[in-house]
Amino acid sequence: MSSSLTFDRVSRMFGQSEVLSDVSLTVPARSLVALLGASGSGKSTLLRIASGLDAPSSGSVLVDGQDASAVPAENRGIAVVFQKPLLFPHLTVVDNVAFPARMAGVTRREARSQALEFLDLVQLGGFARRMPGQLSGGQEQRVSLARALAAQPRILLLDEPFSSLDSRLTDDMYELVGKIRAELEPTIVLVTHDRREASVLADTIAVLDEGTILQHGPVPELHYQPATRAVNRILGGLN
Ligand code: ADP
Ligand code: MG
Repeated sequence: MSSSLTFDRVSRMFGQSEVLSDVSLTVPARSLVALLGASGSGKSTLLRIASGLDAPSSGSVLVDGQDASAVPAENRGIAVVFQKPLLFPHLTVVDNVAFPARMAGVTRREARSQALEFLDLVQLGGFARRMPGQLSGGQEQRVSLARALAAQPRILLLDEPFSSLDSRLTDDMYELVGKIRAELEPTIVLVTHDRREASVLADTIAVLDEGTILQHGPVPELHYQPATRAVNRILGGLN
């Protein structure tokens, strides 16, 4: 199950400063868009607005073409993985991953058995009984991802999930994203400030600069036909 996600003229003010200006972007169901931009360009704010953790000052978010503003965060079919893993420290790994299903009223036994499948998917089946404090940073990040997937989201929002990992782990994570797409087919918004990550993983790249989308298109188009010098600079071009 997968949904499209649309931002329709979304703006967000914090006091006097406009952090997002008239952002319009459609992410088709099952596709992966990389949201690429420098630190402070508004990437996390846009994800928070999509997930319902924050609301736009004007404009709207549509899921499958339906206005999501009246839909509470927990009912949008959207899961988020943050840059820093936020696991419950007092719960075992498997109970962390089982948490969304438990909240939805699934029995402990059933929730744990589902959780084990998602732990297998992220190749941490052998770590089910550990506590989060006994994991490496990369393992914690994969458990966070398993927990997000266990909520069976139709849209998965990844906020710089790889930025704190070393490069070898990052290669594993790249492979994992491919596996998730093949097996679960969620729509994915991947926030990153790493143009290589964006180019390798995404179907389309949306370049965000100071709260404005400069260009959105297929990866080759962004590389070969950058709309502006600023896009070229952000993608690492020569002029
Ligand atoms: P990014 O994720 O691209 O680094 P953010 O979306 O986190 O950018 O932030 C964009 C801008 O909005 C930054 O200048 C940040 O300081 C500001 N900002 C984000 N959240 C708040 C907030 N709750 N209150 C005031 N300013 C904020
Ligand atoms: Mg951010």
